[in-house]
Amino acid sequence: MSTDASETRRIASVTIAIVALTWLVAVGAIWRSYSNSVETWTSTAGLAAEMAAAYSGKSIAAADLVLKSMLDWISEEDIRTSDQFRQVFSQRHYFDKLRERIANIEQIDVATFIATDGQIIIFSRSFPQPGINLADRDYFKEQIRPTPPPTSLGNVVQNRGTGRWTFYKARQARSRDGNILGVVIVGIEAEYFAEFFRRIVPSADSSITFWRTDGTVLASSSNKGGVLGRRFPNAVSSSLFREHPQGASKWLTTPRLINDSNEHERILTMRPIANEPAYVTISIGAETIFAAWRTDRNVTLALALGLTGIILWASRQSLHYQTANKRRRALEFERQILQAVVDMPLALTAILASDGRILRSSLSFDAAFRTFVQSGSLRLADVAGGESIAQFIREPRDQLQTDINVPTPTGERRVYHVAIVKKEIPGLGPCMVVVASDETEHRAAQVALAQSAKMVTLGEMATGMAHELNQPINIIHMAVQNALGELEFLDSDLPPAAPTPEIISLITEKLTIILSQTTRAASLISHMRVFGRAPNEASSPFDARSACEGALNLVGQQIRTRGIALNVEVDDRPTMVMGHQTLLEQVLVNLLINARDALAASGYAEKRIDVACHATNASIILEVSDNGPGIPDSIRDRVFDPFFTTKETGSGTGLGLSISFGIIKDMGGTLSLARSIAGARFLIELPPIFSY
Ligand code: ADP
Repeated sequence: MSTDASETRRIASVTIAIVALTWLVAVGAIWRSYSNSVETWTSTAGLAAEMAAAYSGKSIAAADLVLKSMLDWISEEDIRTSDQFRQVFSQRHYFDKLRERIANIEQIDVATFIATDGQIIIFSRSFPQPGINLADRDYFKEQIRPTPPPTSLGNVVQNRGTGRWTFYKARQARSRDGNILGVVIVGIEAEYFAEFFRRIVPSADSSITFWRTDGTVLASSSNKGGVLGRRFPNAVSSSLFREHPQGASKWLTTPRLINDSNEHERILTMRPIANEPAYVTISIGAETIFAAWRTDRNVTLALALGLTGIILWASRQSLHYQTANKRRRALEFERQILQAVVDMPLALTAILASDGRILRSSLSFDAAFRTFVQSGSLRLADVAGGESIAQFIREPRDQLQTDINVPTPTGERRVYHVAIVKKEIPGLGPCMVVVASDETEHRAAQVALAQSAKMVTLGEMATGMAHELNQPINIIHMAVQNALGELEFLDSDLPPAAPTPEIISLITEKLTIILSQTTRAASLISHMRVFGRAPNEASSPFDARSACEGALNLVGQQIRTRGIALNVEVDDRPTMVMGHQTLLEQVLVNLLINARDALAASGYAEKRIDVACHATNASIILEVSDNGPGIPDSIRDRVFDPFFTTKETGSGTGLGLSISFGIIKDMGGTLSLARSIAGARFLIELPPIFSY
């Protein structure tokens, strides 16, 4: 894995970790705030319930004190019978006393003495009392029993006259000797409690309720749905009281007693009222509990989201920076490599701007091309081969390889092989990278090698040549002998006479033969001289057919004399190419000699070499093929390698094809070994000077 990938992974993991941490903290904070809200509101509910219970307890205790005062009066009067009880307390005096006793005790609505049959003896509301019987009331029934509880708390009822809700606290009235005299009661106003409850209730969705332990609602901060006086034996608060008589809190999601909303979630806290069969509950809705938490949660979520955004942005920036940095490093690296290459002291390298200005160059480049630099730019247009460079700079091509032949200040000429690539270089824009190599010595060696190879060919041809020259010489010899013979036949003693027409005709015939044979020998010798000479002059146009003719002149005869049929087919149109004719001849002579040797070694009866030269639209094609053994696939790729030969030591140099290949390449063409059914077939393709 590359460093960059691991760096990217590192940034990604850190980002994920920070984002995860952010959300962990956010969720933690939200959860904490949630449990804080629940905790705070649970304790608030506890406090409110505590207050409500204390207040209710005190209020009822105050009412109980009134009851105790009423019982004290019975003792003071030493009442012994119920009749006495009825008589004494029906007096106006006690009406006043009652009113006085309950005055300033707000919660008490009424105080009443009740006879054993339930009839009101006296009550604080009016005098004389109305004829009301309370025998059916729960508190009365409870207290009139022989063994009643110390006090009874009656159900809340709505006063028919005032419409106010009142519940009663009752005690039994007994004589000192234990006779049941009746019951004393005080009416306590439910609204008194409700009003206090409303004052301390923390919100609109909260309520405080005052319950009798049997599940009857005696007072409530809201009397929604008319719960007052109704008994709910299965209310949650009842079971809470049963299970935790000391008080408890519970989180509820069950529907409320009076279900007027869909919001069921709430805290229900219960506290018992001291010394009374009653308790209070406070219920606080989730709306209230979580109001602050919701704000906290939204702020926290917004913060976490914002932070996540910032973290992601920062990591993206960091990735961008990393990528940019990587790119910058890569470019710098590339620049350094390029610089190192250009600055190599031995290399002929330079970087040129697109207009040819030299931006950077090696010392050897400067030394080699110093004379061609004008106002900072390289000017090679006037140098042999330089025009192609000038053209390349103008054209949209990407690369060029060419040779240039430049004069040096000392007068000698040097050949440079120049490779130019157009390339975008960081910081420099579109440039050209130039790499040149001094090929002078290499080329000279190549020429020398070709020359020596040619000399070897000439040597090889020498035997054939001797034979070829021998023929005209023999013919001349015989012609001269014939002529001399004829002359001897004439009588030398005879006076000179004008030669006879026969003699003249014979001498003319012989001399014509001699002339033609000497011309042939001279042409052969002169051709060999031309062939043997290294070409010094510049390339020039010539007809490829002449090269064929020249080559066949040199080796045609000796091929034929070895019993090889030589079939020549040349175009009747000129096949003009550029180069040195003798060099193309050298190539053809090489191919012909190779074919000759292959056929000689083969021992075939029908030996044949075909030579062809013709022009196509695109090229001039020369072909030399034979019906010899051909070239096996195993060595096809190697025949053009220098020094590759299958001939015996001494007879082959292995240079013929390699040098021929170089000559054709220099002429801008190709020499290849073509596929053929039998024997070997060599193909030369040359660029034509003009096309048909
Ligand atoms: P040389 O002739 O000195 O061996 P060349 O470079 O001219 O060197 O040829 C290389 C080899 O190519 C030859 O040794 C021969 O094996 C093979 N070759 C060339 N021409 C022919 C041909 N016409 N037929 C068969 N083999 C050939």
